[in-house]
Amino acid sequence: MQAPSAATRIEVDTTRAPQKIIHSHMEMPVQAGPLDLSYPEWIPGEHEPSGPVVNVAGIKFIANGKAVAWKRDPVDMYSIHLEVPPGTTTLDVDLDFLLSSASSGFSSGASASAFLNLLSWNQVVLFPKGADAAKLTYVPSLRLPDAWKYGTALPGAKQNGNVIDFAPVSLETLIDSPVLSGRYFRVIDLTPGQTPTHEMDLAADSAAALDVPPARIAAYRQLVAEAGALFGARHYRDYHFLVSLSDTVAHFGLEHHESSDDRTYEHFLIDDKVHAGGAYLLSHEYVHSWNGKYRRPEGLLSPDYTKPMKDDLLWGYEGLTDYLGEVLAARSGLWTNEQAREYFARTAAILDSEPGRSWRPLQDTATGAVFLYQTGDDWSNWRRSVDFYGEGDFLWLGVDAMIRKLTNDKKSLNDFCRLFEGGATGQPDLKSYNFEDVVDALSEVTPYDWATYLRTRLDELSTNTVDEALSNSGWKLIYTDQPNEIASDRDKVRKQVDLRLTLGLLMNTDGSVADVIYDGPSFKAGIGPGMKLVAIDGRQIDAESMADTANEEIARAKGGSAPIQLLVANGDDVQMHALDYHGGLRYPHLVRDESKPDYFGDVLKPLAPAAK
Ligand SMILES: [Zn+2]
Repeated sequence: MQAPSAATRIEVDTTRAPQKIIHSHMEMPVQAGPLDLSYPEWIPGEHEPSGPVVNVAGIKFIANGKAVAWKRDPVDMYSIHLEVPPGTTTLDVDLDFLLSSASSGFSSGASASAFLNLLSWNQVVLFPKGADAAKLTYVPSLRLPDAWKYGTALPGAKQNGNVIDFAPVSLETLIDSPVLSGRYFRVIDLTPGQTPTHEMDLAADSAAALDVPPARIAAYRQLVAEAGALFGARHYRDYHFLVSLSDTVAHFGLEHHESSDDRTYEHFLIDDKVHAGGAYLLSHEYVHSWNGKYRRPEGLLSPDYTKPMKDDLLWGYEGLTDYLGEVLAARSGLWTNEQAREYFARTAAILDSEPGRSWRPLQDTATGAVFLYQTGDDWSNWRRSVDFYGEGDFLWLGVDAMIRKLTNDKKSLNDFCRLFEGGATGQPDLKSYNFEDVVDALSEVTPYDWATYLRTRLDELSTNTVDEALSNSGWKLIYTDQPNEIASDRDKVRKQVDLRLTLGLLMNTDGSVADVIYDGPSFKAGIGPGMKLVAIDGRQIDAESMADTANEEIARAKGGSAPIQLLVANGDDVQMHALDYHGGLRYPHLVRDESKPDYFGDVLKPLAPAAK
């Protein structure tokens, strides 16, 4: 390790971002002799070695005007060795970063369109191998395309034309502070006249997409108030929701301490149905400023981006965040309570139909997250995916309901959040935790054998976590022939038709089979992922007609004995598959169990007074 005391200057030119290439120039303080440099591999918040080293090109090192030869380490692909010539104090480093157009891969996926770009600094930096990122200083500068505006949590911005110089920051803060820029840009102040400031920085593929209805802005203002009321402290100097509104960038959210990288559909903020399908996106990433950034499982620390992360506590990091993100969406009015219940019903039903829960315990979905994050829809019901999100919702609803039951509704998970995630308001801080710390904090809220409670639900197979959490909070999962609006609108936006609860089939509207429920009706009839559905009961289907045709034929076959006939192509092999399914349409909903207290209703109640 060769940690320089001086600062590295980094200048990034994004003027060609619409062409999918950006340039980085670094001036790095060095000493003569061997130097090992690293490219960030383990990316905070992604919980996996997803640093996009494959997209680094045109790399050049110059010392005193002369090129310096370099070699990649033959084992560690993220490490470069070079020999700094005598008399050198500054190494010039140039590299291009090739912007992906992939729809998956988190921050390594598509980040730019013709009109916007989200810069993740981890993609354009090198640093001395093994150095603690919190102790390295970088002085960032950014050149934008003409007439583009930007938003970021980076402090001290000074703009000169389309070049912005920022104040020196640690490498840790730099990588934790992406910059969103765009042609169509709007800043919405969520806490006018108050400190700390909270902004929605919106970049969109059209001016129209920025025309957010006032009621929606009011709900996002309320989100800031609700999070403050829940946690009782804030661990940031100010907060920026960096929202990319584009149908061509990868869609996901990535948390940072003082901002979040939220990439979603162009019409997300102006179309009620698109918004309802993902209304938890910003609240989830915002919760991470507390649960994930301020409090982080010790296994997820990687101060040099090379130390492998251990994902075993992601049911806390992500599971609790997922639950709170959805709860806060309801408390702040981003969802109605009915919408929140419908969303929970959808998640419950998907878990209910997932045979993989019979062999892979919930804990293993977290421990194995490094590879499970890489998987797609195909066989996800049998393999299982990163279920610590969806099943985590019910794990934590169960904890919430249990605290309320044990204390006669005097205490709740709100008390745990304040105790565990609150602390003192101020600059970004980090307090790591382990399993025992979670158990201790829950026990401080109310004494109980929380270790056994959690370990049973994490380690055992086919646990009753979902039904139990609903039942203990006064609700039941039922299936009717009336559509779950949130689920069907969400499927429309995502170009899928979900027949998992009936035919055991998840379809893409292009006709391809996304997933087949293991041992369900379609599985038994010989259908597998990747095949193409051509017709249902002799009726040809297309993207428009697929959902209606399937539903009509499922309803028609109800109670009868004639199979539903699917004509399916497996490459050039086209065959008829007879599905023995007669259960009719099944859509999930939650109904009240009047014999029990309505704790779930209490969970969704706002904590904060309505924002002005
Ligand atoms: Zn998350």
